[in-house]
Amino acid sequence: MVDSKDLKPHEFLAKILEPEKKTDHICWTCKHFKPVLKGSKFPPADLVGWCKKIHWPFYWCVSEYDVIKSCYAYEKLE
Ligand code: SF4
Repeated sequence: MVDSKDLKPHEFLAKILEPEKKTDHICWTCKHFKPVLKGSKFPPADLVGWCKKIHWPFYWCVSEYDVIKSCYAYEKLE
């Protein structure tokens, strides 16, 4: 088993912060994606998260119904 101290910051957060939804978006493996967390009441129900890259400095809402399979700004999580 991997010790928590050996994890990178985004890997550690992925262990303790559970996302609300699971979809086929490529965004899940992109370092610019910020998911809606489980139990969050604030965002609209169809959102799976936000993109921090497209339309920077604003966040772009990633909808559950527009599944992104490829993206020009995609950068894989390390
Ligand atoms: S850069 Fe593209 S792949 Fe990455 S989170 Fe934004 S929309 Fe998704």
